[in-house]
This record gives sequence, structure tokens and C-alpha cells, in this order.
Amino acid sequence: MRRAGGWLRRNRVELILLLMLASAVAWFGWLGYGMLPPQILEIFTGPKSPHTFDGEVALAHAQYQCDLGPRPVNTEAHRQLQQYITEQLTQLKWEVERQTFTYKDTPVVNLIARPAEDPRPDAPILLIGAHYDTRRRADRDPDPARRDEPVPGANDGASGVAVLLELARVLDLDRSSYRIRLAFFDAEDNGRLDEWEFIVGSTYMAEHLEPEDRPDLVIVIDMIGDADQQIYMERNSYFKLQQQLWEIAHRLNYGDVFIPEFKWSILDDHMPFLKAGIPAVDIIDFDYPYWHTVEDTCDKLSAESLERVGRVLEVFIEE
Ligand SMILES: [Zn+2]
Repeated sequence: MRRAGGWLRRNRVELILLLMLASAVAWFGWLGYGMLPPQILEIFTGPKSPHTFDGEVALAHAQYQCDLGPRPVNTEAHRQLQQYITEQLTQLKWEVERQTFTYKDTPVVNLIARPAEDPRPDAPILLIGAHYDTRRRADRDPDPARRDEPVPGANDGASGVAVLLELARVLDLDRSSYRIRLAFFDAEDNGRLDEWEFIVGSTYMAEHLEPEDRPDLVIVIDMIGDADQQIYMERNSYFKLQQQLWEIAHRLNYGDVFIPEFKWSILDDHMPFLKAGIPAVDIIDFDYPYWHTVEDTCDKLSAESLERVGRVLEVFIEE
């Protein structure tokens, strides 16, 4: 005690200076932390986990699709997109199956992806799906002269595919309580044109499920990339699963975007699975002024919107 006390008296000035320096460092550190550029911040925090859904990566997948141009059923851009989806997934060690059939003399192609290896071969099957075709005519365009042009399909087409592709990269299958299947539905979006129906691809898939491939749950995502995002609950969807997803969104602080209220009831790719007796949910942001117009372009999307939907699905699967 006496020795310590003596040391304190002798070094009092140095000690005070040291304390002032320490508090200055702490103060500036606290203040400056949020202002640092990400590259510098990474030195302290480490890089963003490569296994967390990244909205920027998803947005790049959407941009690729927009750059292909409109992708209506059985066109060159549509085939190029099949190839892109297949290549991306194969690189990520997923196997891609082509389910083909003919509808009104037109070849239709669903793609179904599964991990090369399922870590838990007895786990229930969760199928997550999105349509990859785009509407062949923008019949809701405000300008009548442009209603014969195809829809670019940024939000209505590219956004769902983009989220599925980024999910395939980040999902930790060892932590998943499900066997995951990713479905890319064809011929969803030509309903009421040339006497076509909507949801042609998913209807065929749901009517041709082998018992061993029958999903236990289905989640469909559609039109989820709008920068101005409001996702209400869809009325036809299986409520219990919907509640779970909206709760996860709330926990992730997306409560202002995933609004736990019903608004629309939509004929979408979840319907054929519901009809087959499988619980299915449609995550869709139907408040989109550019729906089925020539203005459904990639500049309407945001990485943050894609990331919110991707994160909700990632957390649902991994916890
Ligand atoms: Zn559509």
C-alpha cells in the first residue's frame, strides 16, 4: 500500500495525462466509428461475412437479366437466362433439372435446383420459387401505343430470380432444418394474352410431383425488388408460415416494410401448391406502379429491398 501510494504521488501528473489520452482515444473511437469508410472499418470488424445474403450481389444478378432484354417464353433471351441460372447454380454445387412440356404448341421449361448433397436426407423439403419468364406484352402501359412492347421484367421476373441465386450462394445447408429446392417457374406471366393462362409452369410442376420430391412447404417470391418496398400479407397464403416469416422480418428491423396486415389476394405460383394440399406462401409487393408496363426496369430496384427478402428467407431456413 505504502509503496503504491508513493508511486501514485510521484507519477500523478503522468497518470492524469495517461487517463486523458485514454478517454480521448475512446471518445474519438466512438465518434469516428460510424464515419469510417467500409474498407477501414473492415480492419476493425472483419469483412462482412461471405455467407450472409448480400443485396448488391443479388442486384447484379437482376442487372444481368435486365441486360438480356425482355425474357418472354421461348425467346433467345429466355434461353440465355436458363443457361445463366444453370451455370451460376452449377458453380455453386447445385444440380439443375429441366422439367419440359408443351403448352399451346410452345415449349415450356421449369428449372429445379437441389444441392449436390443434402446434409440431412430425411429433413422436410422446402421449395422456394420464383418465375423467370417475363410478360410478352406491356398491356397495362399508360401509353396505348406501347402496349404491344414486351415488359422488361426487372421487378416482375428478375428480382425473384436474383434472390434465389444469391440464396444458393449463402445458405448454410448444414444449419438448415429443411432440404432446399429452388424452383424457377416458366410461363407465369402471359395470362390473358393470346388466351394463355397465368402460372402455367408452376401448375404443371405441382401436378407432376413425384412422392419423393413433394415439398412440405412452399415459399414463392415475386416482385420483391422495388426500391419503394411495402410487403403486405397475401390473402390466399398459408397463414402460420406467413406469420413466422413476418415475425422474422420484425426481428430483423424490417417491420416497416413487412407489414403484418392483409391487402391483396393474388393468383401467383403458390396457388397450384396450395391446391395440391401443400402449405404455401406468396411474398409479393404488389404496390408497384410499373407493373406490366415498359417502365418495369432495373433502375426501380434496390439492393436493400432484395437483401431484406433474402435475409428473411436465410434466417427462416437457418434457425
Ligand atoms: Zn407479372
